[in-house]
Amino acid sequence: MKLSHYFLPTLKETPAEAQIASHRLMLRAGLVNQETSGIYTWLPLGLKVLENIQKIVCEEQDRIGCHKVLMPTIQPAELWKKSGRYEAYGKEMLRITDRHDREMLYGPTNEEVITDVVAQYVKSYRALPLVLYQIQWKFRDEIRPRFGVMRGREFLMKDGYSFDLTVESATETYKKIYEAYLRTFNRMGLTAIPVRADTGAIGGNLSHEFQIVAPTGESTIYYDVQFDTLTPEQMTFDRASTLYAAADEMHKPEDCSVPVGQLKEARGIEIGHIFYFGTKYSEPLGAKVTTQDGKTIPLEMGSYGIGVSRLVGAIIEASHDDKGIIWPEAVAPFKIGLINLKAGDTKADTLAEGLYTQLRTAGIDVLYDDRDERAGTKFADMDLIGLPWQVVIGNKTIDTGMVEIKYRKTGDKQDVSLDKVIELVR
Ligand code: ATP
Ligand code: MG
Repeated sequence: MKLSHYFLPTLKETPAEAQIASHRLMLRAGLVNQETSGIYTWLPLGLKVLENIQKIVCEEQDRIGCHKVLMPTIQPAELWKKSGRYEAYGKEMLRITDRHDREMLYGPTNEEVITDVVAQYVKSYRALPLVLYQIQWKFRDEIRPRFGVMRGREFLMKDGYSFDLTVESATETYKKIYEAYLRTFNRMGLTAIPVRADTGAIGGNLSHEFQIVAPTGESTIYYDVQFDTLTPEQMTFDRASTLYAAADEMHKPEDCSVPVGQLKEARGIEIGHIFYFGTKYSEPLGAKVTTQDGKTIPLEMGSYGIGVSRLVGAIIEASHDDKGIIWPEAVAPFKIGLINLKAGDTKADTLAEGLYTQLRTAGIDVLYDDRDERAGTKFADMDLIGLPWQVVIGNKTIDTGMVEIKYRKTGDKQDVSLDKVIELVR
């Protein structure tokens, strides 16, 4: 992509309304535009990141045998009346009336819809276990939307729903998804701590929130220091769930048996939440199957959420400096920023164009700053948008065929010859 033809509305000034780094940087780097409180347009660069995140989420869900569906954003109130949540959900639910005076709503979550689908089509134990998931926009009329996409009103969520015959099988499914979540976040460069979460009124249920440590997080988390040294391979359900980790008021350190010196307190951003809740929805919505010995029983269910749009902000909170964003490679909107410092100089233009074409032919996503701008502006913009690699074409390239490559994360620079660029970034 050539920057001269791209839609990248960066801001020089820091927007006054943004209180935290990720919000400021998302506005400054032209990732999103706020339409009204908690509602955003995703601009090209931001959308690329959002799509990269979705791709990783889907790959890890598909890997463990979940099936992707797409449910509507607008749902009939009727289903929520059956589950008993229509009134209970309160003011966070955006209620709509259609032209025939039928009550509808913009889905804040989808347990009712998916349970209704499964109730219609799944009749036998042979179809189980079954996990269906989607990535779809949700609306929650949050009392205090803030921090940009971190707490929006309209936000993108991956929501999955599991259906099992027995509690044992549902627990196995839960563990499998728990581990898939850790892998998912790890691929995005994040270390998520699975903290035990409130299971509400129904005892004996399982729930974990996946939190990343960041000073601007909205939750307080307490966790065993061992989490800081576990490798991704060691983060299995059996290992991690035996270590103490809990959030907020629910589990204060004094309630746990971990020695004080081994417990850490930190702020956390919740990027995922999983829940096993048994037959809470399958019973009222009639999702039942026939067992091997001919009985009819309600399905054991769980639900599994990832804050896909919140992740864009969360990743930035975890990875930025005073110059801008530092994208982990797996989610970066482009892998390389190619800067032509001598735009307009025939030789420099030819060299830059040549490298640009080579990179694209090699399947490497590159943003080419071909604008007629000052060097300072080009460097500042590139640092702000945070692409992993910067390749600079300048006088040196014209004279010697060497380009400067900077690794955004460390700031390390090295000179390489034009024909070695692809090798190096690979
Ligand atoms: P929170 O405590 O942050 O309000 P929640 O418990 O209401 O979250 P869930 O219903 O479990 O959230 O939703 C699944 C995931 O969706 C959360 O883990 C979070 O990452 C994301 N999420 C929830 N609410 C919002 C929001 N208002 N804006 C952006 N992402 C959200
Ligand atoms: Mg909430």
